[in-house]
Amino acid sequence: MPSFDEYNFDVIVIGAGGAGLRAAIEASAHGVTVGLICKSLLGKAHTVMAEGGIAAALSNVDDRDSWKVHFSDTMRGGQYLNNWRMAELHAKEAPDRVRELEAWGALFDRTKDGKILQRNFGGHKYPRLAHVGDRTGLEMIRTLQDHGIHQGVEVHMECTVVTLLTDGDRVVGAFCYERERGRFKVFRAKAVVMATGGIGRAFKITSNSWEYTGDGHSLAYNAGAELVDMEFVQFHPTGMIWPPSVRGILVTEGVRGEGGILLNKEGKRFMFNEIPELYKNQTADNEEEGWRYVQGDKNAKRPPELLTRDHVARCIVREIKEGRGSPHGGVFLDIAWIKKKIPKSEEHIKRKLPGMYHMFKKLADVDITKEPMEIGPTTHYSMGGIRVDADTQMSTVAGLFAAGECAAGLHGANRLGGNSLSDLLVFGKRAGEFAAKFAKENGEGKVDEKQIEDAAKKALQPFEKTEGESPYHIQADLQSMMQELVGIVRVEDELVRAKEYLAIMNKRLENIHVVGNREFNPGWHTALDLENLLTVSEAVTMAAIERKESRGAHFREDYPNKDAASGKFNLVIKKSGNGEMTIRKEPIPEMREDLKKIIEEMK
Ligand SMILES: Cc1cc2nc3c(=O)[nH]c(=O)nc-3n(C[C@H](O)[C@H](O)[C@H](O)COP(=O)(O)OP(=O)(O)OC[C@H]3O[C@@H](n4cnc5c(N)ncnc54)[C@H](O)[C@@H]3O)c2cc1C
Repeated sequence: MPSFDEYNFDVIVIGAGGAGLRAAIEASAHGVTVGLICKSLLGKAHTVMAEGGIAAALSNVDDRDSWKVHFSDTMRGGQYLNNWRMAELHAKEAPDRVRELEAWGALFDRTKDGKILQRNFGGHKYPRLAHVGDRTGLEMIRTLQDHGIHQGVEVHMECTVVTLLTDGDRVVGAFCYERERGRFKVFRAKAVVMATGGIGRAFKITSNSWEYTGDGHSLAYNAGAELVDMEFVQFHPTGMIWPPSVRGILVTEGVRGEGGILLNKEGKRFMFNEIPELYKNQTADNEEEGWRYVQGDKNAKRPPELLTRDHVARCIVREIKEGRGSPHGGVFLDIAWIKKKIPKSEEHIKRKLPGMYHMFKKLADVDITKEPMEIGPTTHYSMGGIRVDADTQMSTVAGLFAAGECAAGLHGANRLGGNSLSDLLVFGKRAGEFAAKFAKENGEGKVDEKQIEDAAKKALQPFEKTEGESPYHIQADLQSMMQELVGIVRVEDELVRAKEYLAIMNKRLENIHVVGNREFNPGWHTALDLENLLTVSEAVTMAAIERKESRGAHFREDYPNKDAASGKFNLVIKKSGNGEMTIRKEPIPEMREDLKKIIEEMK
């Protein structure tokens, strides 16, 4: 058996983004020992990239906002497939989580009377996103990181978990390797919180960083947990498209929140062409009304650019497909036009969107205060993930909790912008609290030496072959295939073909070969990540085949409409006893009457 270092904690948290950090802080505050493990450097998690803000009904900018409106917006955005209890908890608790962040030292932009400023975002009825310029994620992670460290959380960074250790039906630890030296580590724990983020690297064009390889989804699935809503992958409407090296990088929805408009190559503002029925009552009738809305006029309705991401992305795809796209295959996003409306617009844009200004200037040589940006959809977020209990965040495996993007339920068929950062805070806290409780109430489980030995053997497998296929080739093929066959517009025969390709790629994985040794070896890391990417890709594809309707982020060209019967179930994926992926329809529990009433009132 290869050697390994051993660590013992009451709770381990896997992932140090917003969800993991918040969970670690909470668990530690409940008096248990906490180990925090992350694949990259502390502070470099995906959360740091978040730009637009944190959605919370603080009502600082519009006093008509409340948890009820936030709840109702989240459910409408998710096309009612959401776990309504999670949506309720989220809407009720987000304001306190933001104020707590402020108390821990986070800086926010301010209203004139000194309150946290909130901005407009797609699908939110009122300005709701607490923000600091377009660098909210950085501020959030900096604050949580400082707080966590001072609370005694022990961090193990640049350490990738490759297997969860189980004792019967319960999770009791994790097996990892250090990315730098390739040495193994075993963490024994009474409870484990999974907070590993998303799956965007399964696709070719993505806003997601290298870390998003669906590890948590896959680790939990292999430990017996259920995945839910995997067909719902969010394609954000606005990613950079030119030059090719920056393709996919996110252009925050904050641009549209500040008045940015979408234009086709004819200079036409095409978003007014098609307003979905569900949003007719809430969308501006004309451009003037849309402008008044972003300027804070309470009597105006929002412009169609601020409709939900799924809809905006599809409208962009339609313009491109019908030949009205921009030179590099996207459309135009224009914020410079506001110079017609406000004096000193250049300074205003630089102040409100400093990150976007610098990003376009440096990477594309475009001055967004003077000219439009070229943008197109980019794979952004996984609504699907580990199925959890709404109140405790425990998965269907005892002792295994999940929070943040790798968990599912809150967002249903489509996530509203800003609802992820609040999700991390609300459910990160809950996961930490209940993991600590579980650890206190349950003694130590037994760690099976054989499992450790098997995990080590499996991790070293890519070195065994003297020849074979490079993991980079399989990864690139997978990403292109998923982009092409399981992307924004889906159709049965392409999805079936994708499933067949995945079976072939799984075979190719057996023949993988990496050169070099365990030290500083990115080829090896890619080989180990690949299995997770393949698992989540299979789950997305299977669920996309099974959902024979179009809803939220899932658009089937062969079933272009919503189907009432399909709106009554979630799709649940589980590993069967013989190792095969199975899928089943799970009826959505009847919503409580008081919550139904809120939704009716907000229509
Ligand atoms: C460019 C961009 C802008 C965004 N802007 C916004 C916004 O304005 N508002 C909003 O609400 N949402 C936004 N989002 C979405 C939001 O940022 C993410 O959904 C959220 O940050 C995810 O947080 P998390 O804690 O779940 O995961 P992350 O922040 O991604 O953290 C994941 C952690 O898990 C670790 N990890 C992964 N795999 C392993 C493994 N095998 N072993 C050990 N550690 C592992 C990683 O190292 C990392 O520490 C944005 C996303 C992007 C990409």
